[in-house]
Amino acid sequence: MIIDSHCHIDFEQFDADRAQVIQRASSASIEKIIVPGVMKSTWQKIKSCCDQYSSLYPCFGLHPYFINKHQPEHLLDLKSWIDSNNPVAVGECGLDFYLKNLDTDLQTLYFEQQLDIALEFNLPVVIHARKSTEAVIKAVKKRKGLRGMVHSYSGSYEQAIQLIQLGFYLSFGGAITYEKSTRLHKLVQQLPLESILVETDAPDQPVANSTDKRNEPLFILDVIQRVAELHKTSNDHISAITAKNSSELFNL
Ligand SMILES: [Zn+2]
Repeated sequence: MIIDSHCHIDFEQFDADRAQVIQRASSASIEKIIVPGVMKSTWQKIKSCCDQYSSLYPCFGLHPYFINKHQPEHLLDLKSWIDSNNPVAVGECGLDFYLKNLDTDLQTLYFEQQLDIALEFNLPVVIHARKSTEAVIKAVKKRKGLRGMVHSYSGSYEQAIQLIQLGFYLSFGGAITYEKSTRLHKLVQQLPLESILVETDAPDQPVANSTDKRNEPLFILDVIQRVAELHKTSNDHISAITAKNSSELFNL
């Protein structure tokens, strides 16, 4: 079994052929797909998609990209939505210090409140961290017992070890399929397989072999192959261990 630990299958890019995309995935043993929520207006659609397709598992959160769409009351709404809809995680939330037009103080406020919500509901958290790994570690450290994943991890090896020790998994996607991603390759090689997840982040982050196409869960096979090459083991072994990690984290 393969688990795509991060895929925005609710996005409109899949509206025309969502059923076929999910079918292609399941034909390739991609049996479970974790669907993170990015803003309040997406939660209902995610819930409907997950109700319709048994291989989809919902998360609900407020993503830093959409900071200007969030309202303070959405944090309260998130709590009641989680309470009545049983997600597998809180997220996608996080800090993006790469995009300069996103207010960092406001991002921090929404991020830390969502970490608290995850703790309150005893749920893992799905974190987006771009140019912000240090700040993420600091926020996580303040909250004992918090667990989760950093998706599309791009920090250093030392930061990765700190996150693992804090109870986090690190997830890798299309970026590692590129020849030029030598820093990421070295990082994945050094990390224990017990702490790695695989993801597509579809429809974003295409793999090297299909940059001209919309990304979809099926292409996780390329990610798995690359991790297998880097760890000098079989694709099946990577599929199994990353599925086990994902199942443990999300309590699937
Ligand atoms: Zn995402």
